[in-house]
Amino acid sequence: MPDRILRAIAHPTIDHRGQAFAVLGREVLDGLQRVFQTSGHVVIYPSSGTGAWEAALVNTLSPGDNVLMFETGHFAVLWRDMAARLGLQVDFIPGDWRHGVDPAIVEQKLAEDRGRAIMAVAVVHNETSTGVTSRIPDVRRAIDEARHPALLLVDTISSLGSIDYRHDEWRVDVTVSCSQKGLMLPPGLGFNAISERALAASSSARLPRSYWDWAPMIKDNAAGFFPYTPATNLLYGLREAVRMLMDEGLVNVFARHQRFAEATRRAVAGWGLEILCAKPEEYSPALTAVVMPADHDADAFRTLVLERFDMSLGAGLGKLKGKIFRIGHLGDFNDLMLAGTLSGVEMGLAASGVPFMRGGVTAALEYLASETGRPALT
Ligand SMILES: *Cc1c(COP(=O)(O)O)cnc(C)c1O
Repeated sequence: MPDRILRAIAHPTIDHRGQAFAVLGREVLDGLQRVFQTSGHVVIYPSSGTGAWEAALVNTLSPGDNVLMFETGHFAVLWRDMAARLGLQVDFIPGDWRHGVDPAIVEQKLAEDRGRAIMAVAVVHNETSTGVTSRIPDVRRAIDEARHPALLLVDTISSLGSIDYRHDEWRVDVTVSCSQKGLMLPPGLGFNAISERALAASSSARLPRSYWDWAPMIKDNAAGFFPYTPATNLLYGLREAVRMLMDEGLVNVFARHQRFAEATRRAVAGWGLEILCAKPEEYSPALTAVVMPADHDADAFRTLVLERFDMSLGAGLGKLKGKIFRIGHLGDFNDLMLAGTLSGVEMGLAASGVPFMRGGVTAALEYLASETGRPALT
């Protein structure tokens, strides 16, 4: 977490019913609109991302509604489980955890649904468990091609603020996100960006909701307030995070993460290891998942790197446990942080006896220093 953000969070906690708070409230709500690239409502919960998932479902859907979801990885499975527990009928398209959402299947499923029973298509934009980014504009196009009225719900928890994302332009109905990944904040804030269609759906949606209800949020937010106690100090941090993103410019932020991802992939190729994501057009700019050679335990490798170099690599989640490790390059990250990260991986590979080739770090540094890998001048 950037020091700028930590210092902002250290402000005294003010009365959340007072006028000074209203200024902060409007500032963060307006700022988030810019980050989601929307002119519609954005609501902020004192919650984790899981809470924001639930809010997206309970505000738009009714018991027994059909929802189309895709098994892109661990987080997609968890969101499906939640939808099922809430009483929704989920058509869960199986996946191999190496691919994103297939727009052709979206189109086919919706075209087959002549009775228009599918009420929502819910997809994870960046699967944090696999390093695979689904192509949301293509999913949108598939829904349009099928001329289907289903709502489009998108989880941008690990993409917002690191990967290009456009709520309005891509006509997403509910975008779900939270504070602790690309937005560089501690955990504790959950977000929904809401389209006009989603708002209309919420007036007749019948899943029970109270804490997550958009209506009292939107009503009080108009003047910069919240219907219940907000996470005041995290909002100071959020204001600072938005300023940092806007100072750099979203276009430059996205390009920076593309560079880091490309440099990381060159390192992985240099080591002779395999990237989990199977399709280059779905490579994640936010993180890279690396397949551990057979007969080697990725978690033992991660433990060694943590103990030797005080560096925490991402674990394989769910069915990938022990089989992969994940290199994060999202959020507050620069060339030298990436160079250090990749050096830690290369030294860890050598120390752990995993078969690999030297030279991955060198390949990454060459790219970062080259003209093609150069950051855009701003
Ligand atoms: C982290 C994550 C979640 C869960 O968020 P929590 O804040 O842990 O509830 C959901 N989806 C994706 C894609 C994530 O990366």
